[in-house]
Amino acid sequence: DEQGLDYLEVRGLTVDFDGFKAVDGVDLTMLQGQLHFLIGPNGAGKTTLVDALTGLVKGTGLATYRNKDLLSLPSHRIVRAGVGRTFQTATVFDELTVLQNLDIAAGIHRGAWRLALPRRRVPEAVEEALETIGLSALRDRPAGILAHGQKQWLEIGMLLVQDAKVMFLDETVAGMSAEEREETGDLLRRIGTERTIIVIEHDMDFVRTYADVVTVMHAGKVLAEGSVADIQANERVQEVYLGR
Ligand code: ADP
Repeated sequence: DEQGLDYLEVRGLTVDFDGFKAVDGVDLTMLQGQLHFLIGPNGAGKTTLVDALTGLVKGTGLATYRNKDLLSLPSHRIVRAGVGRTFQTATVFDELTVLQNLDIAAGIHRGAWRLALPRRRVPEAVEEALETIGLSALRDRPAGILAHGQKQWLEIGMLLVQDAKVMFLDETVAGMSAEEREETGDLLRRIGTERTIIVIEHDMDFVRTYADVVTVMHAGKVLAEGSVADIQANERVQEVYLGR
């Protein structure tokens, strides 16, 4: 591995919908400790890429994480391998409390943990996640009363208790206030040091502030990759975004 850090490696990933390649030969290395943003115009293939890496659609090529080929695993095994995702519209249970949502997410993993970890580890992980996402005070409130931003944080908490080491986040700050955005950026930086975090994002201010690495997709392919400065200076990226 590279410098002892965890990473997810994608080579030649292709997703073919009846002859249309929504993802077309993508190579990507996502490294622990770097906030990695995935940008590109609508239809570029960002969601389909994440769908393929989380087992929701069938992809060909290679996607390796901790010696496991993600493309050959069903989605529940991908979760157990430590790879999780959020969705643009938060998928929390509104009628259940914040704590119950986290408990359920932890339960998904309980079977897998039984042999490896003592049982008390699960409640501890839930307490820790509550603290990390800043929702301790709302633990016994129904998730339905949470603000949009808080629901996104709860979803991230659900990934934390599932012990996700790789997290794909889908437009996490869309619809958030400036203050919520900043809190989200801080949260991602805190949890990102020990994890591999990839964020699909349209909010370029957010990307500029928090990205360590940016990958730009266009028409199913990687158009450019690098720091924010690299990307901003890239002529092909300017063409795609500004239509020049
Ligand atoms: P992005 O997330 O970058 O906006 P998507 O991954 O959603 O892009 O879509 C990439 C392309 O694949 C689009 O042209 C979209 O219409 C197409 N696409 C997505 N899902 C399917 C599907 N299930 N069947 C056929 N085409 C699809």
